[in-house]
Amino acid sequence: MAFWALAGEGCAVAASEDQPVSKIVVLMGAPGAGKGTQAGLLSRRFGWPKISTGDILRELANTDSELGHKVREIQASGQLVSDDVLAEIVRERTSRTDCLNGYILDGYPRTLNQAELMLELAEAQGKEPVVVNLATRPETLRERLSSRLICPRCAEIYNDVTNPPREANRCDRCGAVLQHRSDDDPQAIAKRLEVYRDQTEPLIEFFRKRGLLTEISGEQPLDVTFEQLTRLLGPA
Ligand SMILES: [Zn+2]
Repeated sequence: MAFWALAGEGCAVAASEDQPVSKIVVLMGAPGAGKGTQAGLLSRRFGWPKISTGDILRELANTDSELGHKVREIQASGQLVSDDVLAEIVRERTSRTDCLNGYILDGYPRTLNQAELMLELAEAQGKEPVVVNLATRPETLRERLSSRLICPRCAEIYNDVTNPPREANRCDRCGAVLQHRSDDDPQAIAKRLEVYRDQTEPLIEFFRKRGLLTEISGEQPLDVTFEQLTRLLGPA
């Protein structure tokens, strides 16, 4: 049979013996642990898209699709988007071809129910979930969060202590003047760390019990953490 006959069937690509199973990467860790930065680095290194449910919801709310209407309706009523709707959104987004070789989830799952749904999705997609907890002490988190800088133009994140821009207060990528985030003041930081502990730590236990969790220290310099993540997830 000619190769083009196979290509025309639109069949799912089966993982062969010499081809590694593609991965769903879930980075866990408190605000300030470096999740966003590492997710961005990994996305560039492996070519896996970073899937942010927050970004997708914002995009969807501006579209004319059925799902877009549903999201607008829910948000207008002041309610949170349900786990089922979120799961549907994630399923749809991660079914696109750019996710075939793997993808990185950012800000999802946040609840035990979402975690269950994510594992069902992984099974349906034939992908291997890899959950990494960037374990970081509260003192370190507080120090980092209070020295965090963000680019108002391209959203790149810097840190005066751990990841300073090449030129003081200027974005390396686009040259815009960097800003402190308004939710990085001490009281707001304490609140965010508390919310994180209450909501997300049960998830870490959930994944640990299923043998899916890898702990990597979030205390180390960025490039050391990135090196360890790359070794865990590679080869691309
Ligand atoms: Zn920038």
